[in-house]
Amino acid sequence: MRIPNVLKALFYFGLIPVFFLVAFRLGADTKENSNRAAEASPRTGLTSPAISAQATPDPAAGYSLELAAGQSAAVSGIADTRFLELVNHDYKLAGEPGDGLVVPAWPTVPVSAKTVTIHGEALQAVSKLFDSAREAYDCTFYISSGYRSCEEQKQVYDGASDKSFAQPPNHSEHQTGLAADIFIIGIGQNDMAKSREAQWLAENAWKYGLLLRYPANKQGTTGISYEPWHFRYIGRIHAWYCFQNDMCFEEYIQFLKEALGYKADLDGQSYTVSYQFPDDGLIYLPENGNYDISGDNTGGYIVTAWE
Ligand SMILES: [Zn+2]
Repeated sequence: MRIPNVLKALFYFGLIPVFFLVAFRLGADTKENSNRAAEASPRTGLTSPAISAQATPDPAAGYSLELAAGQSAAVSGIADTRFLELVNHDYKLAGEPGDGLVVPAWPTVPVSAKTVTIHGEALQAVSKLFDSAREAYDCTFYISSGYRSCEEQKQVYDGASDKSFAQPPNHSEHQTGLAADIFIIGIGQNDMAKSREAQWLAENAWKYGLLLRYPANKQGTTGISYEPWHFRYIGRIHAWYCFQNDMCFEEYIQFLKEALGYKADLDGQSYTVSYQFPDDGLIYLPENGNYDISGDNTGGYIVTAWE
């Protein structure tokens, strides 16, 4: 299985000479390694995800980015993100979001309580979405829930009369800091689904990298009832692909595992998305151009490159 994966990765990125290797040292979780991983992720502030060779990673195992000898200059721009981590009933949260959480600023992004925080990059996306909504409908959205601690998620779950709308502690996307429950001032939860604002959100959120995470027609796959308010930041090309192909996030990860990647143009930018399982601790990256890496929390890595 490994050789075809590698060949496919090479196919997506080009010829062998334009590659270099980034080694993942599996298992080790020393303080030094943790620090190095943190330094390699300045853009996101997210702590590194745990991976292992098993299908379900062990959060305690940890790993660090380890540069191949002589390649330190070439990989200085590495940003290891967790934007594509699958967190659901089957896949447990890999770790806390670290220091990337921010407090939304009123009135750009209204919130229901002062305690609301969310990951900074997700906030940027939500902020642009809200700006666009004001232009489109002169309506005001607000975030009712962003990041939740394990304890907060436990309270939500224990207090939910209908468990089909909630995940148990350590299985909620809210604990990643990358999810936002978005509501409309003046419209209650029960009335949201049939509002034109919810329709607008469903059709436009992808433009800002946000995915309607629990669509009405995917309940059988997500295991969660239709939530017109719950959006997850996954990045623009990925949200676009899901929207265009009517995929929920579970289906998208499965698609990537089977196809091992795709190429697409979006608004004049060319993207190459590659899905890879670490091959003897290595994944393949383009030597030039922009890219980011995210573990998917099921044992694979998604490399998103654009030019
Ligand atoms: Zn939610």
